[in-house]
Amino acid sequence: MTLFDSPAFEGHEGVHAFSDEKTGLKAIIAVHSTARGPAAGGCRMWPYASAEDALTDALKLSRAMSYKNAMADLELGGGKSVIIGDSRTQKTPALFEAFGRAVEDLGGKYWTAEDVGVSVADLTHARRHTRYVAGLEGHEAASGDPSPVTAEGVFRGVRLCVQRALKRDLSGVRVAIQGVGNVGGYLAQKLHAAGARLVLTDVNTEALSRLAAATGAEIVAPNAIFDADVDVFAPCALGGAISLDTLPRIRARIIAGGANNQLADADAGRELFNRGILYAPDYVINGGGIINVAGEIRALERGEAFDPAWVDAKLDRLALTLEEVLEQALVERRPTHEVANEIARARIVGAAEKRAAA
Ligand code: NAD
Repeated sequence: MTLFDSPAFEGHEGVHAFSDEKTGLKAIIAVHSTARGPAAGGCRMWPYASAEDALTDALKLSRAMSYKNAMADLELGGGKSVIIGDSRTQKTPALFEAFGRAVEDLGGKYWTAEDVGVSVADLTHARRHTRYVAGLEGHEAASGDPSPVTAEGVFRGVRLCVQRALKRDLSGVRVAIQGVGNVGGYLAQKLHAAGARLVLTDVNTEALSRLAAATGAEIVAPNAIFDADVDVFAPCALGGAISLDTLPRIRARIIAGGANNQLADADAGRELFNRGILYAPDYVINGGGIINVAGEIRALERGEAFDPAWVDAKLDRLALTLEEVLEQALVERRPTHEVANEIARARIVGAAEKRAAA
């Protein structure tokens, strides 16, 4: 298969491969779309089995960022970068400096930030060679850790889904959270404060016990979370939680959580719909983190300080967009993720047409 025939290619504007023998850098920066503005999306470091695997991942992730940024109403396109390597053993400051030079080579078409395997410290090295880095700390425009903002967006989304599907507020609503790391942990605290009753799981039992004690939650084993007798299931661990295998076990009427790529495949999305489960599309409900990063990009570009009020207004707007998706899906009797994809594509195409006409 050639690059252009890959199912993940889907109209990418640019795919850039970088190597640097001295530092061992092997990186791909995929720019799906700059129709709405410069492409923005994190950098992932992963020991991919082959360059082809790395390329496919970069393409899928960058397209997903176009959709996520469009649904978050950001003046940003979608892009993503991957560095081939083991983040536990192969990181050096020089490697990330070389990555920074690669980002700089694209002249501002792509803004990077953290993703799996890449930390604030790594990006600080990249920043020495490019200004197109966000998600940092310690300067006036810096946005810091995005996960509390992601959790706030997910919290507002869960509240909206409960209002629509169960016609009640969060008090007494039973919520199962799969994965109580950064996003799931903050989400649990917010739901607890709103009166929800929680069932939690994680493979990291230490953090889990502490959080359960603080929120009065029930703990279940990782595999038992799918069987929990709850109103809402909130996937906040890794992708693929919703599959044809897990769906028959899920008793919740609502699925709304922070994880990326929650649907294992398109069949799972269809089956969700057939079962009458209200699903908040993942890349819509979890857009809070990129909104926070966008706040930093905006501040850097304007030479201003980071503005939390701008972020909060965008979060309000994100909840309205989620409501628009849920309403349209209800009226047209279609799966919510299909409606979301359609709206995202229309927003991207609309921006491209506006730009071409200008
Ligand atoms: P994290 O690593 O802090 O938390 C993930 C948690 O899931 C960890 O505690 C891990 O032990 C647990 N986990 C892993 N496998 C599990 C399993 N099989 N069963 C139960 N628990 C399991 O990551 P995070 O930043 O909280 O991100 C969580 C999800 O949200 C990811 O899918 C991420 O891509 C997505 N996301 C995060 C942000 C953000 O701002 N951090 C933004 C958008 C989307």
